[in-house]
Amino acid sequence: MRTVAVTRIGSLRDPDATARGQIGVVDFPDQPLGPEDVRIRVAYSAICGSDPHLAEGFFGTDVPIGLGHELSGVVEALGEKAHRNGLQVGDRVAGNFLRFCGTCTPCRAGTQQFCEHIQDYNRPGMAETVTWHESQVYRLPDDVSLLHGCLLEPTSVAVRIADKTDIQVGDRVAICGGGPIGQLALQVMRMHGATSLTLIEPIAERREMALRHGADEVIDPISEDQYRRADEITRGQGFDVVIDASGSPRAVRGLLEIAAKGATVIYGAMYPHDFEMPLNLSDFLYLKELTLTGVFVSPYAFPRALQILPYLDLDELTQSVFDLEDATEAFDMHISGRYPKVVIRCNDITDSGSTS
Ligand SMILES: [Zn+2]
Ligand SMILES: [Zn+2]
Repeated sequence: MRTVAVTRIGSLRDPDATARGQIGVVDFPDQPLGPEDVRIRVAYSAICGSDPHLAEGFFGTDVPIGLGHELSGVVEALGEKAHRNGLQVGDRVAGNFLRFCGTCTPCRAGTQQFCEHIQDYNRPGMAETVTWHESQVYRLPDDVSLLHGCLLEPTSVAVRIADKTDIQVGDRVAICGGGPIGQLALQVMRMHGATSLTLIEPIAERREMALRHGADEVIDPISEDQYRRADEITRGQGFDVVIDASGSPRAVRGLLEIAAKGATVIYGAMYPHDFEMPLNLSDFLYLKELTLTGVFVSPYAFPRALQILPYLDLDELTQSVFDLEDATEAFDMHISGRYPKVVIRCNDITDSGSTS
C-alpha cells in the first residue's frame, strides 16, 4: 500500500541537501482489519505543521515513518462487529487518528487525551487506505465535501483550543500565528463572540486571509510594535484570551505582555523539545493572575467539530492539492509557506457531497 513517509531524518529546511530530511512514497504492508475496525479509502490527506517535526525525529528516528492524520475518505470495508455507529460501506467519513481505549485510568477518569494506549491505532493516513477503530470514524455531513472534510481533525484542535480558553462573549482575543490552526481558531473564536479579534502574523497573505474571515485587526510582529498595537486595540487593557498557534519560540515570548489581567493564555501548538521560556512569576502569575495552558490532542471535540464544519469557510485552506505520487513536491510547497495548507489527493474519488 503506497504511503507517504519520512525516508530520511533531518530538517526539511536544511540548506545542506545531504543532511536535509526526505519525504517519499513507500510501500507499507496493509493494516489488519479487526472485527471492530473500519477500512477507509482515503480521498484527501492534509499536510500538518507537525509533519516536519516528525521528519526531524520528534517521535522517533526509525525510517520510514508513515505520515498523515488529517484525512477524509470513503468506507471500503467494515469488520464484522463494526456496526455501533451505523457506518455503511460507501459512507463519506473523516475522523480522529487517535483511538482512546476507554478502559485505562485516564480514559475512565474523563481525560482521554492521556490514554495510555493512545498510539495503538495511530496509523499513517497519507496512504491509499487507512484502517481505524470504529470509534475513530465520523460520517461527514452531506453538505461538507471530502476535500473540506479532511480538515475535521485540525478543526477539532481549534474546538479544543476554544474549550480551553473558557471564553465569554465579548472577550478580547488575540491569536498568534496565521497557519491552519490559527485561521481555524480565528473562525471558531468569531463564532464564540470574540471582540477585538486580532491575528499576529508576519506573512502578509495570511494576515489578509484572516481579515477576510472575521479578524478585526492584524499585527505584523516584524514591522510593527506588537505591544503598542495591542495597547491601542484593547485600550490598554490587554487581551482576555491569547492563543498561540505559531509554535514559534520567537513568537511566543511576547504573548504574556499583551495578555490582560486575569487572562488565559493557550499554547495551542507543538514546540521544540528543548525550548524553555523564561517566566516572570511575579509579573505574570502573581500580579496578573494569568492562566497558562496548552493543548496536546483533542478528545471530546470531534462531534462538535463535525457540527461546525459546514459553517466554516475552508476554500482557502484547501486550494493547494497534489497527487500522492507528487508528495515530495507537496512537502516542498508546504515548506515554502505559499499556502497555509497543502492537501494530498490519495485516491481520485467521485464526491457525492457538496463543495459549498
Ligand atoms: Zn495535524
Ligand atoms: Zn485509554
